[in-house]
Amino acid sequence: RELVSPDAEGDEHTIEAALRPKRLDEFIGQARVREQLSLVLHSALRRNRPPDHVLMSGAPGLGKTTLAMIIAAELGAPLRVTSGPALERAGDLAAILSTLSEGEVLFIDEIHRMARPAEEMLYLAMEDFRVDIVVGKGPGATAIPLDIAPFTLVGATTRAGLLPAPLRDRFGFTAHMDFYDVGELERVLHRSSRLLGIVLPDDGAREIARRSRGTPRIANRLLRRVRDFAEVRADGLVTRDLASAALDLYEVDAEGLDRLDRAVLGALLGKFGGGPVGLSTLAVAVGEEPETVEVVAEPFLVRQGLLARTPRGRVATAAAWIHLGLVPPPDAFG
Ligand code: ATP
Repeated sequence: RELVSPDAEGDEHTIEAALRPKRLDEFIGQARVREQLSLVLHSALRRNRPPDHVLMSGAPGLGKTTLAMIIAAELGAPLRVTSGPALERAGDLAAILSTLSEGEVLFIDEIHRMARPAEEMLYLAMEDFRVDIVVGKGPGATAIPLDIAPFTLVGATTRAGLLPAPLRDRFGFTAHMDFYDVGELERVLHRSSRLLGIVLPDDGAREIARRSRGTPRIANRLLRRVRDFAEVRADGLVTRDLASAALDLYEVDAEGLDRLDRAVLGALLGKFGGGPVGLSTLAVAVGEEPETVEVVAEPFLVRQGLLARTPRGRVATAAAWIHLGLVPPPDAFG
């Protein structure tokens, strides 16, 4: 394996790109998704047809972009990348769709944030490989149908529930990406440390993995922070104690909660007595957008059993009180 050059090291995006697995068999974890996807891709290759459109849902940093790139690589097809917020007008999407080559993979990240007119154009394109280009305005406007090359759409969303049903239904396959377990994250870390030329003993890897919020992107980021610490404060060897001291310094706690996670829990307990409290009220209390709290912090807190979403609002569990070193009230949730 080639080593990532030190020049590329400065830029987080360059490193992230360099650490991306390129093929399905290099992709760690998500065993079910990998197997399902492998079937979809292989049968398409056998039939010599583009596969069904693929939707991927899951929290940020779980590998959706990586998988989209892998899909194109496995198909030997070119990849076009865009995102929902970039598709403000139908014309933005038409410009892309009309220039796709046969079999090309179109990746739309944050597909739930696409504007409505673009979304409607996408329905027709996904189903019939056709777009209607509207020429002129008002009563004189006419729609000119235009055939486009058969392509495969890969959509990624952090919130599959937000997709309108007609869009969701047009995907032949939905991959639900889950948080990674500690063992899988250890494998991600060993792979990345080899590529970055970092010496990483098993106990150091385990400590970083435990604190990575089930997320490979976070594991890779913490690995670099721990490496910095090891180089400056020690002889470069990432032992368990060293990893633990470094992560304390970066305010990642023993369960992997970061500042935002702890702010959310802290507000829930300190200001709202453990809830229930509405999402927007909670977001105001921590000075964040509701979407940030909902998409970035909550899924992990829910998964750790620290927070529950109930019809009446967000509620802290007894484990959350204990995690913050407090005594849970007798009527605490869970
Ligand atoms: P976002 O939705 O925020 O764009 P994402 O889910 O698309 O995030 P990626 O950008 O694909 O996440 O992955 C983030 C980083 O994590 C990549 O640099 C990649 O190296 C690493 N990574 C993700 N999944 C895996 C995996 N299964 N095995 C190894 N590394 C992985």
